[in-house]
Amino acid sequence: MMGSQFKGRVIVDPQGYRWDDEFAAGLNTFPRDDDECLRNRLVGRSDQQLLSAMLRTPDESPPEEWPSYDPFVKEPALFRIFASLDATPAAYLRFADQWGSLSTLRNARRHEQSRFVQWYATSASMANQIKLAERYLAAQKSGRNRKRPVSEALKLVNDILADATRISIKAEQRGGVVVSVMVVDELLNAMRLQLADMILELREFRSCEHCGKPFPVDAARSDRAFCSDNCRVKAYYRRRKKAIALRESGTTLREIVKETGSDMATIKKWVGSKGK
Ligand SMILES: [Zn+2]
Repeated sequence: MMGSQFKGRVIVDPQGYRWDDEFAAGLNTFPRDDDECLRNRLVGRSDQQLLSAMLRTPDESPPEEWPSYDPFVKEPALFRIFASLDATPAAYLRFADQWGSLSTLRNARRHEQSRFVQWYATSASMANQIKLAERYLAAQKSGRNRKRPVSEALKLVNDILADATRISIKAEQRGGVVVSVMVVDELLNAMRLQLADMILELREFRSCEHCGKPFPVDAARSDRAFCSDNCRVKAYYRRRKKAIALRESGTTLREIVKETGSDMATIKKWVGSKGK
């Protein structure tokens, strides 16, 4: 449902990002004072040139060849990743290098959402909204919420989308028919819509058993434990390696089964069947 409604087109600065007035106290700590929070802005490394071009001609767009991605397709749990970031300049910088800055380049001209304090407040507020959403979902599941599910969902979603502006709607051709699609080019708005969708679709998330990354639980594959095939394969090799190491240090097959969570047949295949 989501794919047919929303389309993200988030642009990432190919040069990466930087704090415009590097934090003297080091990137891994919370800024020392209010002044540092207010002064420092996270900007794209290519920004300056482009921004001055945009100032001259308001319609100037980022170059076509700049990479863009669709967060709804590439990372449906991006809002959760954002909400759980450490409150440090380094963590926000790493996030921006991978996913882009919170506002579009066009809006970055006005330095919207680029200060440290804005990253901090936005991430904390999203974490709080996720907590409320989870409480709502848990109540829905247990049936406790039967009396006022609609008004509560309405309030939650409207609070989340209150600051989401500048979402455009375009017509697109899909499978031979013309449909209207919401096009989101601001990363923060895309993440707000992901959170709203979690509430409206009663979507559950789980943490990957291998890397810890959150991913949406698909009703058709609700026993899925890994975020990707890559992690599933890595976890397999990690278990296998562990089983072999345990065997070499004299652990019984039964104990290895318990330690690794793999079944006896698999363990025997990995370490050979001789043993206790
Ligand atoms: Zn993973």
